[in-house]
Amino acid sequence: MNILVTGGAGYIGSHTCVQLLEKGMELVVVDNLSNSSQESLKRVEEITGRKVIFHKIDLLERDWLEALFRDYEFDAVIHFAGLKAVGESVKIPLHYYRNNVSGTINLCETMAKYDVKTIVFSSSATVYGEPEKVPITEDFPTAAYNPYGRTKLFIEEILKDLYTSDNKWNVVLLRYFNPVGAHESGKIGEDPKGIPNNLMPFISQVAVGRRKELVVFGNDYPTPDGTGVRDYIHVVDLAAGHVKALEKLIGKSGVHIYNLGTGKGYSVLDMVKAFEKASGVKINYRIAARRPGDIAECYADPGKAFRELNWKTERGIEKMCADTWRWQSRNPNGYE
Ligand code: NAD
Ligand code: UDP
Repeated sequence: MNILVTGGAGYIGSHTCVQLLEKGMELVVVDNLSNSSQESLKRVEEITGRKVIFHKIDLLERDWLEALFRDYEFDAVIHFAGLKAVGESVKIPLHYYRNNVSGTINLCETMAKYDVKTIVFSSSATVYGEPEKVPITEDFPTAAYNPYGRTKLFIEEILKDLYTSDNKWNVVLLRYFNPVGAHESGKIGEDPKGIPNNLMPFISQVAVGRRKELVVFGNDYPTPDGTGVRDYIHVVDLAAGHVKALEKLIGKSGVHIYNLGTGKGYSVLDMVKAFEKASGVKINYRIAARRPGDIAECYADPGKAFRELNWKTERGIEKMCADTWRWQSRNPNGYE
């Protein structure tokens, strides 16, 4: 199979590239490197012993995309490219809509022109807004409370419309829960630019001495210890979900929606404790007010992906923390 991977130099993309290459698939990666470094792909080559074909292309540049589709014949596209910082999306919404939504439209128009009609899209549990209950199944109502979330929701709707207009499309919407962890080689991992927004990279940067303390956003939620509960999923399990989706769904058509999560929820303090145990480092933290827009609890029912894709997670929070720590302690400044 010949796969175009957009955003493949990023966190989830680079881990997925490893597994696609290990499965013997042919890849072309495009990324504008706005939130990543080409070094990640060099490391992917080290891990797999295979070459990665890379083109520095922005999805907003239609002509470059066209040239790419003229040069290669793709069987499918895995579309990771997008901006993902919720807070930033509130400050510069138009930039998010242009980058994520217009970028996807450019990509799909080019795919249609070259008759490539299988797309696996990185969606998010954020499209469930504030769920009425947990665990969340794929048929729950959708809602979004910030521009980032709306880009995910709008793109899902655009891709569904595309299928309605032409039943040859094969649209796979993967709704990720909270990706954490790193490849167990310690060579690739999450390398956020600036101050991390997400819990796990924040904890690991405190552990490695880059940040003074973790600020825990609220301990007055209706959860066992009062802190927010999420479904943390090891990025290697998440990457495997993409491979399974491709293997099972290539050649089919339709709109296929899957939750990719573990089905288990852990609190902020559970994660702090698990990280301390895995790293042997004490994590300083203080409790502060809730972060606006945060919900109390969110975890997946991943049963549909198990039934239909034969996919389930294999790695627990101990491994998530141990692998994050191996990556962070060996690369204290990320890919720099
Ligand atoms: P990431 O920022 O590490 O990777 C995204 C990549 O896309 C980056 O390498 C960036 O340079 C590239 N990119 C952005 N805009 C581009 C454009 N216009 N043209 C070309 N390349 C572009 O993020 P990630 O964590 O690997 O996330 C991958 C995808 O998964 C994103 O779409 C994200 O919204 C989605 N997602 C992530 C999470 C998470 O917590 N990490 C959760 C749910 C969904
Ligand atoms: N969180 C926290 N401090 C941080 C970052 C996150 O207490 O510096 C909490 C946040 O309130 C939530 C959980 O950790 O309960 C996961 O947050 P993250 O931003 O990683 O994911 P999301 O909110 O998108 O689920």
